[in-house]
Amino acid sequence: MNKGLKEIITNSAQETIELGKKMADKISSGQIICLSGDLGSGKTTFSQGFLRGLGVEGALTSPTFVVMKQYGLKDNTSNLKNVYHIDTYRVESEDVLNLGWEELINDKKNIILVEWPEKIKNIIPEGVIWLDFIWLDNDRRKISFSGDIF
Ligand code: ADP
Ligand code: MG
Repeated sequence: MNKGLKEIITNSAQETIELGKKMADKISSGQIICLSGDLGSGKTTFSQGFLRGLGVEGALTSPTFVVMKQYGLKDNTSNLKNVYHIDTYRVESEDVLNLGWEELINDKKNIILVEWPEKIKNIIPEGVIWLDFIWLDNDRRKISFSGDIF
């Protein structure tokens, strides 16, 4: 048993959005956030809250079909300049490398959200934030993680 593992159950999509916003308040630039879990478990919903929490405006559609979406953060006093939302469901590690992955992860002005990180495990560096999403029933999801991220 992993003693450092914590769990949060959300009872609605809105609660998962709020959780994403809460993480945005605490995050520092240069982090990679891995969102693991089945289809419909709430990864994109969480990401939308996170992006809103960072001040991203406009439509926040899932990157499933485009693989990667970039959001520039203007009027930002912190080091953070870009958020990348990546969904590797339809691709392989090599495709992600071809998108400039190494450069993205080494730029401390970026934050990177990755859905389906288990699909590109061989190129995920050490020290990432990892959240596991589990579908409990129609309205409830369990989110497990370690560390002080909320
Ligand atoms: P994923 O990106 O993991 O495939 P999505 O976030 O796209 O999942 O979809 C989750 C779906 O489940 C959405 O339609 C959302 O409204 C719904 N939902 C219901 N309850 C929750 C909850 N507690 N947390 C997140 N999403 C929920
Ligand atoms: Mg998704």
